[in-house]
Amino acid sequence: MDMEEGNEAQPPPPPQEAPEAAEPVPMDQDEDQAAADPMEDEAAGGDAAAAVDPMEDDAPTSSPTPSAPSATAAVDDSTVARKRRRRKKQFPGMIPTAGVRVLRASSSSAATAAHLTGIPRRRGRPPTNSHVRQARELDSEALIALAAGFPADTLSEDEVAAVVIPTIGGTEQANYLVVRNHILALWRSNPLSPVSSNAALAAIRTEHAPLVAVAHSFLSDHAYINFGLAPSILSLPPSPPPSLPPPSVLIVGAGFAGLAAARHLMSLGFKVAIVEGRLRPGGRVFTKTMRSTAADYPDIAAAADLGGSVLTGINGNPLGVIARQLGFPLHKVRDKCPLYLPNGSEVNSDMDARVEAAFNQLLDKVCQLRQVVADSFPHGVDVSLGMALEAFRAAHGVAAEPEERMLLDWHLANLEYANAAPLADLSMAFWDQDDPYEMGGDHCFIPGGNSQFVRALADGIPIFYGQNVRRIQYGCDGVMVYTEKQTFRGDMALCTVPLGVLKKGDIDFVPELPAQKREAIQRLGFGLLNKVVILFPFDFWDGRIDTFGHLTEDSAQRGEFFLFYSYSSVSGGPLLVALVAGESAIEFEKKSPMENVEKVLETLRKIFSPKGIEVPNPLQAICTRWGTDRFTYGSYSYVAIGSSGDDYDILAESVADRIFFAGEATNRRYPATMHGALLSGYREAANIVRAARKRANKVDSPEKTDVNFEVKDTDKDDNIDLDDLFRTPDAAFGGFSVLHDPSTSEPDSTSLLRVGIGARKLGSGSLFLYGLIMRKNVAELAAMEGDEQRLSTLYRDFGTKLLGLDGLGHTGESLISRIKAASKK
Ligand SMILES: Cc1cc2nc3c(=O)[nH]c(=O)nc-3n(C[C@H](O)[C@H](O)[C@H](O)COP(=O)(O)OP(=O)(O)OC[C@H]3O[C@@H](n4cnc5c(N)ncnc54)[C@H](O)[C@@H]3O)c2cc1C
Repeated sequence: MDMEEGNEAQPPPPPQEAPEAAEPVPMDQDEDQAAADPMEDEAAGGDAAAAVDPMEDDAPTSSPTPSAPSATAAVDDSTVARKRRRRKKQFPGMIPTAGVRVLRASSSSAATAAHLTGIPRRRGRPPTNSHVRQARELDSEALIALAAGFPADTLSEDEVAAVVIPTIGGTEQANYLVVRNHILALWRSNPLSPVSSNAALAAIRTEHAPLVAVAHSFLSDHAYINFGLAPSILSLPPSPPPSLPPPSVLIVGAGFAGLAAARHLMSLGFKVAIVEGRLRPGGRVFTKTMRSTAADYPDIAAAADLGGSVLTGINGNPLGVIARQLGFPLHKVRDKCPLYLPNGSEVNSDMDARVEAAFNQLLDKVCQLRQVVADSFPHGVDVSLGMALEAFRAAHGVAAEPEERMLLDWHLANLEYANAAPLADLSMAFWDQDDPYEMGGDHCFIPGGNSQFVRALADGIPIFYGQNVRRIQYGCDGVMVYTEKQTFRGDMALCTVPLGVLKKGDIDFVPELPAQKREAIQRLGFGLLNKVVILFPFDFWDGRIDTFGHLTEDSAQRGEFFLFYSYSSVSGGPLLVALVAGESAIEFEKKSPMENVEKVLETLRKIFSPKGIEVPNPLQAICTRWGTDRFTYGSYSYVAIGSSGDDYDILAESVADRIFFAGEATNRRYPATMHGALLSGYREAANIVRAARKRANKVDSPEKTDVNFEVKDTDKDDNIDLDDLFRTPDAAFGGFSVLHDPSTSEPDSTSLLRVGIGARKLGSGSLFLYGLIMRKNVAELAAMEGDEQRLSTLYRDFGTKLLGLDGLGHTGESLISRIKAASKK
């Protein structure tokens, strides 16, 4: 890759940088209070972290005063925990199109497949009951695949796109799934060393070696195995690049998405450079070390995560794998979360349970309502989740008493926290579209903070810091990335900037991005969550709990310091973090940090003074301001009214195979999370490899070379032709139309399906998604009543995922070529 003003990639991040999102609070010149200095080194309190029990059990029920009963003691702790952390409630009935695959109850399809095709295992197990054992083993491997984000008994859309097997369905697919699940299970059982295809073959009959090779290569290319930072992984030699000289990729943004993509591309032989606007890597993951400068408390320090903090669900979470490789302990966030009224007394446990049940019933009502709306208005009508909840609350007289109302408000604030948005802005229809994919398992902190991941991920990657990108230009020759200081040139670019930056239009794309993408950028929401992080001289709140809540009298301020995270167990010092969600998060940034910190202290005094506990003066405090941070303009994405999960997919679509997009807001399944960002980086690295291989093949093949250089224009023409062809489809029903493969009439052959999503959702008819489907399944779809039923059958039973045209992979591309060629005759 060239740079016009020859400049060297900078070494790892400079140690000093102000977190743009954070504002330090200038404390009084009191000896006890030191002015916060966010310019400090971000090194986390590793020593303190090391002292923490990695998977500590819940502390015994306790409260700040011996006499205060636990508000949660009388209710099921596990249910409370689900609500009181950053987790959304799952209402399966509320998910209109997304289907989760589950294993069949009696025998897994994988097990059946093995039975049918006789893939024997050669592990040392007794011959008796071998069938049962084999079935159990296959089931457990399928579950591991499920946890890693795969449909356990069918192909993922990436696998379909990568054409891992020539024909979808049938025996070969079943065999492939057994092999794929087995390799994944081998990797997850020991992510400290890479899984070789030979190791995978040890348990599979040798005649299936080609399937093992295909599955192994797919899983490695997509970083489902052999990823991360274990020394044995890092010492693997890079794979040979798809072409020489190696293709170059410019990555805009050094957050989790950019860093993951860079590492993976480098391991695949690509030349990579990251162009980053800040003076540090990590983006919305930033651990700030806070230190006492007070003479009375000289040694107090703590590591505070100002952005991404909790690993939400550790099962299957790739960050859990990396933590294990790096030897990071995990601290399970404990379930106990007492709630305090504004006067400091704890909420009565009966009332707590009652209001929580009422809150869940309200969500159930909304769930039923949206089903009715979806059935009655096929073209889609969306309202805000907040409006629907309030309508039911008023109609059913829920939480009529002031204390109940405060409690209900607390639950609503918690929902606003999970979504980083006021409920008034959330789509009733799709706000929880990602719930089916939620990572299972405990929520965890990484003692010492998440910047430890960042440092490890960024190590050895060429990153150009302080380079604010203003323009990305792309064409058939490659890409140019213009910053305020320099110009970079590469073969491809991966844009990982937050959705807030894209919405703001701070980066000019030349030529303009396709209208569909620009519309999705505007539709999808990007919300706000802020934190006040306070280092105290000692822990006065009982560090054996990880969270406690605070209720407010004024509904409009329900999100203000509604939840406190105690980081005493993991940060190395007495650290409290107060969360500010919903409307309050927006108001928060209009006030001075001093005012905000004073308000937090006031809240804490109201809670603890009645218990005879004095709240000490803070040693240091920081208020985040993610909304005005010019490198994000917000905290994370949410599904706004009128938007849907499709918009995440549209944001993820590449343009002209030159500009690719990653980042949490491109991950439909795991948006708004650190692991979602990481996985999106791996996903796009794989897509970039696919595009580079395609380009290399075109260059190698003379008849293809004729058309290859006008990549963009060719793609445009493709779209127009396809629209024409769909005017006279082979089959059409509802919003669906189908073009069959003209070269065959085999029932198992692949047909191209187009679904007018726009007509259903936006009333415009302009947005189409595409999928591949077996010809024999078309008639079944046509016979169904209504597009909703068709869509769910498509996802659930046929395993077809709807994508943009770019996502159909080689199978899709060659099918389209055949259809076009036949139409010319
Ligand atoms: C307050 C807060 C709390 C959160 N809590 C959690 C949590 O508990 N658990 C969880 O899983 N997730 C949480 N998240 C979300 C999580 O942090 C993000 O989803 C994830 O870090 C996003 O990573 P990314 O790579 O997509 O984007 P980013 O980390 O934002 O990376 C994008 C990079 O692009 C750079 N950039 C932007 N514009 C430009 C430009 N013009 N030129 C050059 N560079 C540019 C940015 O500086 C940044 O480094 C939280 C986020 C916030 C803000």
